[in-house]
Amino acid sequence: MNSSPDISTKLLDWYDVHARELPWRVSPKDLALGILPDPYRVWMSEIMLQQTTVATVKDYFSKFTAKWPNIAALSSASEDEVLRAWAGLGYYSRARNLKKCADMVVTSHDGHFPADVQALKALPGIGDYTAAAIASIAFDIPAAVMDGNVERVFSRLFTIETPLPAAKPIIKAKVAETLSQTRPGDFAQATMDLGATICTPKKPACMHCPVRENCKALEKSDPELFPYKLAKKEKPKRVGAAFVATSPSGDILLEQRPSSGLLASMTQVPTTGWNSRQDGDTNVHAAPFNAKWKNCGTIRHVFTHFELELTVWHAENVRSDGQNYWWATRENISEEALPTVMKKVISCAIPELFQKQ
Ligand code: SF4
Repeated sequence: MNSSPDISTKLLDWYDVHARELPWRVSPKDLALGILPDPYRVWMSEIMLQQTTVATVKDYFSKFTAKWPNIAALSSASEDEVLRAWAGLGYYSRARNLKKCADMVVTSHDGHFPADVQALKALPGIGDYTAAAIASIAFDIPAAVMDGNVERVFSRLFTIETPLPAAKPIIKAKVAETLSQTRPGDFAQATMDLGATICTPKKPACMHCPVRENCKALEKSDPELFPYKLAKKEKPKRVGAAFVATSPSGDILLEQRPSSGLLASMTQVPTTGWNSRQDGDTNVHAAPFNAKWKNCGTIRHVFTHFELELTVWHAENVRSDGQNYWWATRENISEEALPTVMKKVISCAIPELFQKQ
């Protein structure tokens, strides 16, 4: 019942009809006509899709590829420009690695991504998953591509009872023995699409699934039980304060974060010394300078390893500043490399600011 070639053929037949239209994707129909994927666009989409949903990535992908249509254009941009364009997408080390990777492809690979999993993995920001995805989708190399969707589909097809993450090598072996040797890129995308649209975490639409006759979880168990996962550890909660100072004309005082560590080199309003391991001061006495600070309440933000609650203070008509600060006008605030946590802080003090943009 679980014949691997059978699963592969059914998945590809389904994909030929139901493939999602995505801005970075070459459809199976176009591929059959000889239109090849652009490795630059495949790479860009895969980096953005790490930790971020397809719906969010679409706009950023369009913005990036309009501004920098190829690897040489991206390499000629400054890191600061890339960080500004990335602002709001989160996990900012991806943006810094994007720029480093573009530079390395231009300088060490003559502007072309290498068609080899190990050579791809040697590039900044490209790990096992991304290397396999680029190799498979851009170059049709039979590499086992694993993401959350693929893990779910395969753990259900084969009722893999080992909990994640220990199950990953077992799932990878199943993917490797199942994948199409003739259309590996389409196979990878078909599995991702099945997981995203049919084999969903809750209430999978098994009635519409092309591989339901091969699925052990559907036959013998409850698909929603898979993949098994170890209970998650609760994230530590940290606190701190942030200070939104505005000038008489309404400009907002900003500064740059340190060049290493969390949110490195991103833009922020002055804040206290919180990080994943320690709390920061929450009191107004920790403000960077004297002003008529008013308490605006708190905001919460969840990082990968901890939750943060910041007490937000706002002072208007501030005239003084220091050499490490700059003033951003309200019109230009969206051009700043502000991470989401700082947009929440500023919105807490000036609720209408980002709504207007
Ligand atoms: S039959 Fe259901 S559980 Fe099994 S792969 Fe298809 S959608 Fe997923």
